[in-house]
Amino acid sequence: MLTSLKGKSVIVTGGSKGIGRGIAQVFARVGAKVTLASRGEEALKIACDEMNAAGGDVRYETCDVSDWASVRAMVDNAATAQGGLDVMCANAGYYPQTKIVDMDPEEWDDVMANNLRSSFLCVKAAIPHFEKGGKGRVVLTSSITGPVTGFPGWSHYGASKSGQLGFLKTAAMELSRYNTTINAVMPGNIYTEGLQGLGQEYLDTMAASIPLKRLGDIEDIGNAALFFASDEAGYITGQQIVVDGGQILPESLEAMDEI
Ligand code: NAP
Repeated sequence: MLTSLKGKSVIVTGGSKGIGRGIAQVFARVGAKVTLASRGEEALKIACDEMNAAGGDVRYETCDVSDWASVRAMVDNAATAQGGLDVMCANAGYYPQTKIVDMDPEEWDDVMANNLRSSFLCVKAAIPHFEKGGKGRVVLTSSITGPVTGFPGWSHYGASKSGQLGFLKTAAMELSRYNTTINAVMPGNIYTEGLQGLGQEYLDTMAASIPLKRLGDIEDIGNAALFFASDEAGYITGQQIVVDGGQILPESLEAMDEI
């Protein structure tokens, strides 16, 4: 049982929906103080109220993770409100699906800003607080798409998610100076608002291709993030873990028929 997160100060970007919400719920349940950070205030308020009704100590900040001033203000406000910062979960991101031949250069830049630049900005804004507190933890939400697999329409998304893992290696070395670890969770297909937008046929096909025969739950990712943030994981840094129900394992469609 990971009990070391009780009373810790945590930020979860993209905490109003989907995986971020699952991460926040898991941290709130073990007694952490949690700030949810997304752009849309209505969804933030709903998520925040629900987690507090379940006994959490949760607040929110509106923030655009692709914008430095917005990220810095969000992180500083959260640290002030929660008495410091212990854990940064840089999770927010998005995945428009457009094939290379149809993709505007602006869409490429937008995905990079929201998914990759945001990781750098969140880490940069958190460093002064980790330095002040004498320790810290960062958990990035990457993906299997990019680092391990490909899917037509997600060249920019996959590049951004692989980029996070490239950033992670050097960041782990630089953050060691602040007694801070940084690791990444690589989700498979997790049932979220964003994924629902891809349609029922996508969801059904994906579930059928996963050895554990279901899409992931948002708290499956929250539990992995909780482990990386715990005292028990204090000697792990610069690493990543796939949480996908075995999705990347089958060598072929026939391999699934043999299960
Ligand atoms: P989601 O259901 O669409 O939720 C995305 C969250 O991020 C929302 O809270 C959204 O709120 C916020 N967000 C998006 N862009 C933002 C920005 N620029 N600034 C601040 N907040 C922003 O997405 P999800 O499926 O949970 O995905 C979350 C993360 O998991 C992403 O990094 C994604 O790449 C990764 N992932 C997801 C899956 C999956 O199967 N779902 C698989 C692998 C990896 P606002 O729009 O209100 O800002």
